[in-house]
Amino acid sequence: MSELYYRSTRGISGPISSSRAIVKGIASDGGLYVPDTIPRIDLSRDSLLKMEYKDLALYIMSRFFTDFTEEELKYCIEKAYDSKFDDSGIVPLVEKGGAFFLELYHGPTLAFKDIALAVLPHLLKIAAAKNDIDKEIVVLTATSGDTGKAALEGFADVEGTRIIVFFPEDGVSRIQERHMNTQGGNNTCVVTIKGNFDDAQRGVKEIFSDAAFNRILDDNGYIFSSANSINIGRLIPQVVYYVNAYLTLARTGKIEKDEIINVAVPTGNFGNILAAYYSKKMGLPVGRLICASNENNVLYDFINSGIYDRRRKLIVTSSPSMDILVSSNLERLLYDISGSNPDILNDLINNLNIQGKFEITAGMKDKMADFYGGFATDKETFETIKDLFLNFNYLIDTHTAVGYNVYRKYAEKSGDTAKTVIASTASPFKFPGSVAKAIDAKYTGMDEFSLIKVISEISGLKIPAALKDLEKREILHKTVCRTDQMRDVISGILGI
Ligand SMILES: *Cc1c(COP(=O)(O)O)cnc(C)c1O
Repeated sequence: MSELYYRSTRGISGPISSSRAIVKGIASDGGLYVPDTIPRIDLSRDSLLKMEYKDLALYIMSRFFTDFTEEELKYCIEKAYDSKFDDSGIVPLVEKGGAFFLELYHGPTLAFKDIALAVLPHLLKIAAAKNDIDKEIVVLTATSGDTGKAALEGFADVEGTRIIVFFPEDGVSRIQERHMNTQGGNNTCVVTIKGNFDDAQRGVKEIFSDAAFNRILDDNGYIFSSANSINIGRLIPQVVYYVNAYLTLARTGKIEKDEIINVAVPTGNFGNILAAYYSKKMGLPVGRLICASNENNVLYDFINSGIYDRRRKLIVTSSPSMDILVSSNLERLLYDISGSNPDILNDLINNLNIQGKFEITAGMKDKMADFYGGFATDKETFETIKDLFLNFNYLIDTHTAVGYNVYRKYAEKSGDTAKTVIASTASPFKFPGSVAKAIDAKYTGMDEFSLIKVISEISGLKIPAALKDLEKREILHKTVCRTDQMRDVISGILGI
């Protein structure tokens, strides 16, 4: 198979191999690595239909990560998709309320990020060895909640790696905070940032592109990498479950051969929906990509107007993992619809940095016709959870509810009857305060930890192991800092 190379959306970095792109995470020019082409699915329908999740993961990852051997990828996949997942199919598809919920939350931290973060540490370790890197990999991550815990779980005690997670004090739930601050592992650090997610993310991005600081690290035997969804090693494993969902529909006779389906994704950083877009570019019969935002509806405005404008106040909503004003992974879509033109990208990003907004050309906007942008308010989100529960006895979390609500509004408005897969990004247990309140106002203000039990009683589902006795676990991480102190905190942790 011919090798697939990666280059930066901003044009200076690359072409480099997939393993190199995984090690680097973000390009030194600040851009994101993209493959030169999106490989097509080149297997017969019959062979695909026979594949279990791990087989499919191997096939798709080998199409993108061409400088890994089959044995190497197999090793990573075996390590990732084992009994950490409490469903043998890894990503079950559940038909409820006129849609197909793709439950991406059966991993160790009850959210979809586990699926990529279970595999990334192993990819990263092998990728470093391939590139003759004998330095300790320092994974730096800004998180709005779920990434942090999933990354910590993925990297904890993986030899040759350290992980430092920054999370904003505003915008993560008490359970998420507790989950992270109690993380074990001899290579894990968790730091609270005074500010919101965008502040934390901007801080991390600046550190990644700070040449002087990177040199100091290098001199001391360290190299930075990223576990954020900007890492191509995060993105590609997510393509797998969209293809798997399609095959599941085909296998169970829910769709005919070549029937087109829609996908609805509750979106924050644009990673998960970009994976769906990549699956479509690989040849999967996907029609509409329904991009669902919460009240931080920057993407809704962008898809509808072609203008991306981050100049607004961040709203703290009941779907905190989507409380984002700058969606990093959108840069990969912009690059694609610009005809892979880094000059255009540099202009757009400059405008975003300097003026706080940018506008794409009509030609670029035309290339986004498959995207539908919608959003749900918190009130609609709560109503959606309640309706689905009362009518179909199926409990979903707030993020998934944003996706389902926007899908319903889209279907009603457009009359489109294509079968639709909703990316169910978190378990209802993960956000028990909002979920219980949506079902009955009497739970408002109750302690989140006791609400975990309430969710179990309401739904008849067992409390997942990840949450059992969480409130009794010892807090191991207590550092708090401002964004301008992040470098110092890192230096302190690494002793440099
Ligand atoms: C991260 C996250 C999202 C947003 O996903 P992106 O890839 O950032 O768009 C949605 N829901 C949950 C539960 C998440 O953790």
